[in-house]
This record gives sequence, C-alpha cells and structure tokens, in this order.
Amino acid sequence: MIPFLDLRSINLAQRADLLAAFERVLGSGWFVLGHEVQQFEREFAQCCGAGHCVGVGNGLEAMSLVLRAWGIGPGDEVIVPSNTYIATWMAVTHVGARPMPVEPDPASFNIDPARIEAAITPRTRAVIPVHLYGRPAEMAPILGIARRHGLRVLEDGAQAHGASYRGQRLGAHGDAVAWSFYPGKNLGALGDGGAVTTDDLALAERLRQLRNYGSSRKYHNAEIGFNSRLDELQAALLRAKLPTLDAGNRRRAAIARQYLDGLAGLDAALCLPAVAADAHSAWHLFVVRHPQRDLLAQRLAEAGVGSMIHYPVAPHLQPAYASLGLAAGSLPISEALHAQVLSLPIGPTQSDVQTQQVIDAVRCAVASLQPCSPAAGAA
Ligand SMILES: *Cc1c(COP(=O)(O)O)cnc(C)c1O
Repeated sequence: MIPFLDLRSINLAQRADLLAAFERVLGSGWFVLGHEVQQFEREFAQCCGAGHCVGVGNGLEAMSLVLRAWGIGPGDEVIVPSNTYIATWMAVTHVGARPMPVEPDPASFNIDPARIEAAITPRTRAVIPVHLYGRPAEMAPILGIARRHGLRVLEDGAQAHGASYRGQRLGAHGDAVAWSFYPGKNLGALGDGGAVTTDDLALAERLRQLRNYGSSRKYHNAEIGFNSRLDELQAALLRAKLPTLDAGNRRRAAIARQYLDGLAGLDAALCLPAVAADAHSAWHLFVVRHPQRDLLAQRLAEAGVGSMIHYPVAPHLQPAYASLGLAAGSLPISEALHAQVLSLPIGPTQSDVQTQQVIDAVRCAVASLQPCSPAAGAA
C-alpha cells in the first residue's frame, strides 16, 4: 500500500528534534506568546524574505485578520479564485464582504490574470491569489492590475511554503501572505497553526493586536479583537521542522520530475501538471486530470495506491454558498477541473521505488479505462 501522504513517517523522521522542542516548552512554563513564537516569527520571516511575520491560530484566520486589518467588510467585494480550498472564500465571508470568483487558467490551475479586470467593480477592495497545489500564481500581472485599480493583494500561501516566483521566495510579493501550518502542509505543525508575512510594519503591528484581544499591553484593550494565537508548543515544533523544509521540497520536486518523465505521452486523456518557467513550485500536490477521474481513483485504490481529490465540489456549488446564487454551469472551468482532478501520492519520505510503483499503477489503470468520446473530455 502506498499512502497518499505518510504524516507518521514524516514526523517520526524528526522524533528527537520534536521531543526536544516539547521538553523546551514544558520546561519553560510559558505556553502562549513567548520566546518560541517570537523566534519562529523571526526565522519564518527570514525564510520567506519578508520583513515581518505574525503567528496566528490557523490559515483561515490569517486571511480574515488581514482583511479586517485593512478595514474590508460589509458592502465590499474581494476577488478570489473560483477553484480553491473553501477557506479562501470563507475568510472573505467572515469579514462580511462578498467573494467574487474569477476562473483559473486550466494549465496552471491558478487564477487567470486576464480575467481579473472584468470582475473589478467600484466595490472591489482586494484580490486573493492562491498558490494552488504549491505553484506560485502569476504575481507580476496580478500586482500590475491591483496597482492600477488601487486594490490590496493578499496571497494565500497555505500550499506553497518555500516556493519562489521569479527568483524570490513567496512571502512579500503582495501586500501580505497568509500561511497555514495544518499538519498536512509542506510546513506542518502537530496541530493547527498559521501566520501572516508582510513587509508592512503597521499591518504586522495591527495583526499582533487583533490576534490577542485587541491588546498590545496586557489587560489594556485598544479594540475588539480575537483570540487567534500561534501557541508556544506549535511554534517550537515548527522551529524544529523549518530547517528541513527545503530538503522536503527538493524531494517533492524530484518525485514530480519522476512522475512527469514516467507518465509523459502515456495517453491523451491523462493531463499532467505543467511546470512553470519562472517559478519553483513547492509541489504540495501532484495533480493530474482525467475525464474518468473516479474510475482512475478506483483502479489505483485496487492497486494499493492512495489518491485524493482536491477538491470534489467547487466552492460556488457548496450548500454553504447557495445564497450567492451561482448556479451549476456559471463557472465552467472550475467545474470541469473539480470533475477531473486527482492528486497522486507525494511527500518528503516517498521513495523512488514507491513513486515508480505509482507510475506503473497509473499506466496500467489508464490503459484499462474505456476511451471516451471527445465530448466527454471537453472542458
Ligand atoms: C489549508 C488551506 C487553508 C486553510 O488553512 P487552515 O490552517 O486549515 O485554516 C487555506 N487555503 C488553502 C489553499 C489551503 O490549502
């Protein structure tokens, strides 16, 4: 059996470092907003090439706190990708603003810069490009459009720790980047965690206050804030894992290369992810497309290969967003992707032999699937 992601082996590979981090926190007697969070913020900001990092409770709150700090709320619109994990949309909804979906370029899976301007209205305040599956979004054209229209840019970096765009790490291309340290991410805690990186000192200071009951000085509350703090234990564990991020991402890139070579030219129906010329992906996920995706997943499961779908239902078709009134067929590119995407196993502890076994299983499964009519495969 080849697991989709072996979190147990990933973390056990660092057992001694993680136990030492736990001992340090236990021995310190200090569990919230102390030395470990401060050091992690310093180290992660440096890793991202950003001026500041603010640790928060999770990735969703990293985004909603930034939007709130920018004063975005009811009556405002925020442009989001039509295909993303639902957190990107919910962060907008949580501040009372309206998510305005823009379709992706199916070749990159990322928001299509050429479609953004048509979605801008007098109410638009910000754009949230998502570096989906670890591949950096096309930040240069996105930032150009945002500047021309006076919009803020918040990047959703939850899937792209360590990735770079045009020679520069993700971390401060836009006005702020929101990160998640959910256990399955490239930099994952042993529980929930999140952060914001930015070059904007005033934003960082506002976030430090917002995450902690609107307080910058103990028991003095300047505004109605939240409780959204990265805790000391998770920060200490993340400090132990941060030095292995680049090696883990290099291993992921090698697996992706092996998949691309091993599956190239196999079948016109199997669409492999495109490699960006001007960016280094974090290869959080290796996502293929196939018109008979569910059957392909089933055949892989029968061959002992784990796979997952990111994601099975488009955000606008979720019951949670029925009130937006976006019917089936209204965002056809996103809908076609949601019907066809399948994520193959990838992770820092996956071996070449395991990767080859996945390749063999995919080759066998694809060959066994019925060729389908052109209409069924058309987006
Ligand atoms: C994981 C993820 C998030 C949310 O992170 P949490 O820490 O689980 O709140 C946001 N956006 C994307 C694209 C994600 O993959």
